[in-house]
Amino acid sequence: MERKSVTVLGATGSIGASTLDLIRHHHDRYDVRVLTAGSNVERLIRLAQEFKPEYVAIANQKSITQLKSQCPDSKVISVDEAALVDTDWTMAAIVGTAGLIPTMNAIQRGKQVAFASKECLVAAGNLMMRAVRDNGATLLPVDSEHNAIYQVFDDKQKSSVKRLILTASGGPFRGWNYEQMQTVTPAQAVAHPTWSMGAKISVDSATLMNKALEVIEAHYLFNMPSEKIDVIIHPQSLIHSMVEYNDGSILSQMGPSDMRTPIAYCLGWPERIDTSAPALDLETIQKLTFERPDTDKFKSLAMVRQVLREGQAACIVFNAANEIANQAFLDEKIPFLKIYDAIEESLCKMGKRTIDNMEDVIALDHDTRHITLKYISDRDNKKIHYA
Ligand code: NAD
Ligand code: MG
Repeated sequence: MERKSVTVLGATGSIGASTLDLIRHHHDRYDVRVLTAGSNVERLIRLAQEFKPEYVAIANQKSITQLKSQCPDSKVISVDEAALVDTDWTMAAIVGTAGLIPTMNAIQRGKQVAFASKECLVAAGNLMMRAVRDNGATLLPVDSEHNAIYQVFDDKQKSSVKRLILTASGGPFRGWNYEQMQTVTPAQAVAHPTWSMGAKISVDSATLMNKALEVIEAHYLFNMPSEKIDVIIHPQSLIHSMVEYNDGSILSQMGPSDMRTPIAYCLGWPERIDTSAPALDLETIQKLTFERPDTDKFKSLAMVRQVLREGQAACIVFNAANEIANQAFLDEKIPFLKIYDAIEESLCKMGKRTIDNMEDVIALDHDTRHITLKYISDRDNKKIHYA
């Protein structure tokens, strides 16, 4: 295998850490050329000292002087510029729509892009998939569900695909009733039963907004209509998703609940590389269960259908309102169930808009944040007191 030069956008996060862990075990195959972060300058400096990238970037302007003084052997550039540096393989793992421009820049270079930043695809799926085609880039899905589908999706038999089946763990509140869900604390919400992830995606998993965003992600990645994308609860998180064909065959991918497996698939592609993730021990698996999601309780799964009917603008609002409401919940400004109300309110308030380019995406994303923040600050009791 030829040595690949690598960019990691979001190097200090959970996906970034798993990516760099794999690279550490395959240092003869990969050459880390670019590392970027949002604000964790100490971690970025430690990573730069270990991997010695040619370029480093941090979004938080206040940390630039420190980064320059402690990484004298790397050039300090902006995150947007870092994504433009020519490398063979990019991990796009910036959380939220902060990743829009860097991810688009990476796609436009026409190389391999391992795609974790689902919010970017939700907000700009049409534009990003068009850029992938126009620039001849290879988009490799990192999200475990989409990675599973990618592994069993036969592009040549697309017309025979009956449906995509996204599996969901159900999150920490599966089986909880409405009263219990009213008292959910941030600490409970980030304690995911099967996966270890960043705070934002952990809360999204608890509201099942993560799965709703993943329905949109699947819609754009595999060019499938909403009616052909189902969600099923699979609490063991071992079957990572499935493709059902019209002859009744259901193909799935199984693996440990460890993001190093889908990341390794993307890193090695088109070959396979070994990972340090613990192997799945089939003999210890007692059962694999499946159940229908409760869309009355987890309203995100009902909302996403309407959002997809409305199109790209609604996807932008859905995503941006969620980012704000998710953070407000983590900051104890709104109770858990208000996350849904904040998103619904924003969807109702935003008028119709046409999305033709990234400026349109960024403008609507910005306006939605404003409306959602206003909804949150208009509430009477600003600070939550948990029972
Ligand atoms: P995280 O919060 O652990 O890390 C996010 C990264 O983005 C960090 O490196 C952070 O510094 C960077 N970042 C934040 N704000 C930024 C900004 N304004 N500019 C530039 N960089 C910024 O998140 P994560 O769990 O690693 O998730 C990253 C992405 O991958 C998300 O879109 C998430 O939905 C997706 N994803 C994560 C997992 C998982 O297991 N963690 C699984 C599937 C998909
Ligand atoms: Mg996922």
